[in-house]
Amino acid sequence: MATDAPKDEPGPGSQSSLRAANEQRIVATLRTAGPLTQAELARRTALAPSTVSGIVATLAERGYVRVGDEPGGRRGRLVQLDLEDRFVLGIELGNGHISVAMATLSSRVVGFVRRELARGASITETLDLVETLIGELLVEAKATTKDIVRGAVAVPAPLDRFGVLSSSPRIFPAWADTDIGGRFEERFGWPFFVDNDANLGALADYHWGAGRGCHSMVFVGMNYGFGAGIILEGVLFRGATGVSGEIGHMTVDETGDFCQCGNRGCLNTVASIYRALELLAPIHPEIDSAEKLLDAASQGLPPAIRVLTDMGRATGVAIANVVNLLNPEVIVVGGDLARAGEVVIEPMTTMATRLSMPSAASGLRLLTSPLGERVFALGGVALALGLDSPGALV
Ligand SMILES: [Zn+2]
Repeated sequence: MATDAPKDEPGPGSQSSLRAANEQRIVATLRTAGPLTQAELARRTALAPSTVSGIVATLAERGYVRVGDEPGGRRGRLVQLDLEDRFVLGIELGNGHISVAMATLSSRVVGFVRRELARGASITETLDLVETLIGELLVEAKATTKDIVRGAVAVPAPLDRFGVLSSSPRIFPAWADTDIGGRFEERFGWPFFVDNDANLGALADYHWGAGRGCHSMVFVGMNYGFGAGIILEGVLFRGATGVSGEIGHMTVDETGDFCQCGNRGCLNTVASIYRALELLAPIHPEIDSAEKLLDAASQGLPPAIRVLTDMGRATGVAIANVVNLLNPEVIVVGGDLARAGEVVIEPMTTMATRLSMPSAASGLRLLTSPLGERVFALGGVALALGLDSPGALV
């Protein structure tokens, strides 16, 4: 599928990639040497003083470094990394809730809050709630809006590489055709990155959860729709047009039910919270949200348990295909359905193990995300910290 590519993208030899490399050098030097004057920074990095001066000004503007007010001119002032009292935000736009996590630039998570929001809420309603939640976190951290450097937003739908809902606007209609990062930036004044929630779940678990220390992992997010985030050799793999890992749109029955993406018989039409609620509606119309489904299952309601077990099995089949294709070290399952526990995980593990090639499955660890309901907002924090690529700035 062709995608317009009007943006100026940094190539390996471009000015912007050179500048990024120089920024990394300066940050790395400050990290190991502590506070330095700009003249000293130029000497240690072998960069021209004017280059150092320009980069320090940019880094200061973004909140990475603080420049002292010692006498002796601009180049005599001490420059130091400023990581503990500058913050990033990770925001999950869920189906039925909003979560926000806040962390220092040194990756210390200082707060998390989650609040219900009607599914299909408008952009304005959503941004109003996000603003309230950010306000609560700032109070808790004794910080102000000036201390926030930037944020990242997790969206429960496929996005193209420019952060716009790709090809399937019906999956998250309130935000269709919207520059999501742009709307956040316009409202709050900080830059915002945007990514698919499963990609961000993968980042969170890779850095802080079940994937720590591995080289390759796949995160399977089990929410209203299912999606996977893929990390290969330590790098988040986004695919050619940014829509890698759409496990929920794997075809399981080409003449099956229509999916929100416009195709038929995708995994999401068999296993997803949407499908679970649809299947239960004729006999249990009161079960109309993920939370109510989980409650019903934990109270032992047989149809709720049955539907979750069936979905665990279907997901296990999809996971086996992923295992045979990628041979990852770890598969992590997260999202609201994964919180149902053994009722989903046990049949999923059984099917995933049975259908994987023994040589691909040997040594595979299939784990539940220990990050629970925080996983997608924490993934936003990871993206805002630049942890999606090697050589992150901080
Ligand atoms: Zn689909």
